[in-house]
Amino acid sequence: MTPVSDRHGRPLRNLRISVTDRCNLRCQYCMPEEEYVWLPRAEILQFEEITALVDAFGDLGVDKVRLTGGEPLLRRDLYRLIHLLAARTGLRDLAITTNGVLLAEQAPALRAAGLHRVTVSLDTLRPDRFTALTRRTTHAQVLEGLRAVPAAGFADTKIDTVVIRGVNEDELADLIEFGRTVPAEVRFIEYMDVGGATRWSMDQVVGRAEMLKILERRYGAIEPVREVSSAPADRYRLPDGLVFGIIASTTAPFCASCDRSRLTADGIWYRCLYAVRGIDLRGPLRAGADRAALRDVIASGWQVRTDRGAEERLQLRHRSPLIQVARLREDPHLEMHTRGG
Ligand code: SF4
Repeated sequence: MTPVSDRHGRPLRNLRISVTDRCNLRCQYCMPEEEYVWLPRAEILQFEEITALVDAFGDLGVDKVRLTGGEPLLRRDLYRLIHLLAARTGLRDLAITTNGVLLAEQAPALRAAGLHRVTVSLDTLRPDRFTALTRRTTHAQVLEGLRAVPAAGFADTKIDTVVIRGVNEDELADLIEFGRTVPAEVRFIEYMDVGGATRWSMDQVVGRAEMLKILERRYGAIEPVREVSSAPADRYRLPDGLVFGIIASTTAPFCASCDRSRLTADGIWYRCLYAVRGIDLRGPLRAGADRAALRDVIASGWQVRTDRGAEERLQLRHRSPLIQVARLREDPHLEMHTRGG
């Protein structure tokens, strides 16, 4: 293994792989439009192609892989990819982020294939709110999916909740209590102005300090958990010992320690969630590049990385949605649902 670092000394450790740009929900903070431009099917990477890229990334230090989408469980026979990846002994962590709709039926097969951990996105416990937020009526399936995770033998399960003012900031404690019953650690994510969030505005952002205040009113004093980690969530402990997380990506970005990058389903590699340009890895792969050649492309891309997207956004005096709809239509790679959130 030959670890690489970028221009700010950040290693390459964490790879998020989008396996499809399709989704079976239409969350207003991610896919608020009626119509979308989808990636051409012929360009979507085969499982063996993804595995070949993971091998090259692994040579450079990537030991954590998370499968995302779109909704990753929409990708047919996903367990086959997991089986291939789980055989890579260098991968310390192999996880998935899903909206949970198809999880109940797939959890046992995912576990049997070697998946380590599951994160489920869940923004509300109220079916009517779920329908308003996602424009779908599958809330009960998501809850059923979450229950199926421990039943299939998974531990260290997470629930990711995007907190939006006027939508769900009154459910923080309820979600924590629900997490206790799964069991799953809840992580609250500040609403972000990434590509695709075309309805974003700063006044809908509930910042970390405000979330903590809301929760202290219910639970009393909350203590930060002291730990050294490049994980995006800061963790906190309730008086009874239960731990939850906050991902303060909008008000307190963590770019300084960011070791993550993203691969789209068609093989374009983005070194930052906010990057407007990616590096094409599908091209060299399909042109016959071997592992060493792919490794060279990735290493040289990472070594020149200077991205600090969220920190740069924080410095803007007036913040509005990152990219306008017309531009998103021209290049769907700019969408968060294409590059895996
Ligand atoms: S904005 Fe970019 S550099 Fe900052 S944490 Fe997110 S992906 Fe990393």
